[in-house]
Amino acid sequence: SPVLVWFRRDLRLSDHPALNAAVKSGNPVIPVFIHDDQVETLGAAPKWRLGLGIDHLSETLEGLNSRLILRRGPALETLRTLVQETGAGAVFWTRLYDPAAVDRDTELKAALKQDGIDARSFGGHLMFEPWTVETKTGGFYKVYTPFWNMVKNRDVDAPLSAPAKIPAPDAWPSSEALSDWNMGAAMDRGAAVVAPYVRLGEAAAQTRLSTFIDKIVARYDTTRDQPAVDGTSGLSENLALGEISPHQCWHAGLRARQEGKPGAETFLKELVWREFAYHLMHHTPRILTDNWKEGWDSFPWNRDETTEAVMRWQQGRTGIQFVDAAMRELYVTGRMHNRGRMIVASYLTKHLLSDWKIGLKWFEGCLIDWDPASNAMGWQWSAGSGPDATPYFRVFNPVTQLDKFDKDRQYVKRWIAQGRRAPSETALSFYDAIPRAWGLSGDQEYPAPVVAADEGRKRALEAYENRGF
Ligand code: FAD
Repeated sequence: SPVLVWFRRDLRLSDHPALNAAVKSGNPVIPVFIHDDQVETLGAAPKWRLGLGIDHLSETLEGLNSRLILRRGPALETLRTLVQETGAGAVFWTRLYDPAAVDRDTELKAALKQDGIDARSFGGHLMFEPWTVETKTGGFYKVYTPFWNMVKNRDVDAPLSAPAKIPAPDAWPSSEALSDWNMGAAMDRGAAVVAPYVRLGEAAAQTRLSTFIDKIVARYDTTRDQPAVDGTSGLSENLALGEISPHQCWHAGLRARQEGKPGAETFLKELVWREFAYHLMHHTPRILTDNWKEGWDSFPWNRDETTEAVMRWQQGRTGIQFVDAAMRELYVTGRMHNRGRMIVASYLTKHLLSDWKIGLKWFEGCLIDWDPASNAMGWQWSAGSGPDATPYFRVFNPVTQLDKFDKDRQYVKRWIAQGRRAPSETALSFYDAIPRAWGLSGDQEYPAPVVAADEGRKRALEAYENRGF
C-alpha cells in the first residue's frame, strides 16, 4: 500500500530521510503538501515564498513522473481522507520543532497510529536533535560557545542522494490548484520587485553552495561583516524551507576546512548558531513570545507599533543611514544582511526603546528566510532579554558601524536614493516595492534622525540602569 510523504519545510528530494525511507519501502509514494492553519497564519513574505517553493517542488516531482498532491484543511483530517482515498498504510514526514507544529504532529501521530497507520517522523531539518545535546549535569545549553564545543566534533550524517525514481501509485488522488491558495495575497507590495532576489529550489541552492565554497568561504571571516559585499552563503532562505539540508552545508564546510580555507570554520560555527536557536526553542518555547530572561517584563518599552518612530523604522526613514539602508534592503529583497539585522534591531529596541516583539513581527511579515527560532533568538539577543544576549550596555552605534563595515558607503548608495543626483536602480526599486499608502517617493528630502545616535544611546543606558540591569 502507498506511503504518503507529507512535505512541510523540507522542500527537497536529496538528503531527505523521510522520502528516502518511503522509496526504500518499495511501495508507491504519494508526496503531499497540506495547507492548514499553520500555513494560513504565516507572514506575508514567508507565505508567498513558500508558495514559490511548493510550485517548484511540484515541477521537480513531475520531472520524475511523480506529483505533489495539494490539499487544504486541518492536517489530521486531511491525511485521514487521503489515507482512505488511496489505501495508504503509512505517513512519513520530517520533524519540526516550533511548539505549534510539535503539538499538531504529536497529536496527529498518535491518532494515525490508532487508525493502524505507520506514522513516522524523521530528522533532516537539524543536524543535532535538540534533546541529544546536554550539559554535564543533564540540562540544556543557554550559552552558545559551550554548545558549539559540545557538538563541533560530532559526526554529522553524510547527506543522502535523491532517489533516482519515485514509484508512483496506480491512480493519483486529486489535487487542489496552488493558484487557488493565493499564497501571495498578503504581499501588499511589489512581489515582482522581490522575485528576482529569490533563490528558488534545491538545484539553485546546491549551485550557490558550490559557488560559496569555491569562491567565497575562504575570505568569509572578513567579508561576512560587509553588507555591500556578496560575502556570505545567502542560503538561509533555502535552509528555512528545507530546499537544502544543514548536513549538506556542513559537509561542504568540513571539506573546505580540510582544504585549509580559513573562513570555513566560521561558516560551520554559523550553521551551529542555527542549531543553537532550535535547541533554545525546543527547551524554552517561550523564547518565541516572552522575554526569555526574568525581570524584563517591567521594562518600560514602547509597545505601540503605530507610533511615528516605529513607523519610520519600518519604512526605512529613521534618518540613520545604516538603519534605513537595511530596512529598505529588507523590503526590496526579502532579506537583510546579518550586520543590518543587528543594527536595526539594536536601534529599534535601544535607541527607540521599543519592544523587540514589534521588530520580530515586522521581520516575520517581510523576510523570505523567516525562521521562527533564528528570528526569535536574534531579536531577544539584540534586545538583551534573551539567552546569551548582548549585554544591555552594548548599544550599537549605527554611525561608527557604518564607518567600520561600509567605509565607502556602497551599501548606503545601493539602498538610499534620496540626496543623490543619480540614484542607483536598486535604491529606486524600493519605491516600487512599498505599499502606495506610505506615500513615499525618492525625491523627498532625506529626514533628520528620529533619535540621533548619541542621544539614543544615552537614553537607552539611562532606561536600562534605572531598571537595575
Ligand atoms: P551565512 O553567514 O552564510 O551563514 C550560514 C547559515 O548559518 C545561515 O544561512 C543561517 O542558517 C545560519 N546562521 C548564520 N547566522 C545565524 C544567526 N545569527 N542565528 C541563527 N542562524 C544563523 N536567520 C534566519 O535564517 N531567519 C530569520 O528569520 C532570522 N532573523 C534574524 C533576526 C535578527 C534580529 C537577527 C540579528 C538575526 C536573524 N537571523 C535570521 C540570523 C542571520 O541574520 C541570518 O541567518 C543570516 O543573515 C542569513 O544570511 P546567510 O544565509 O548569508 O548566512
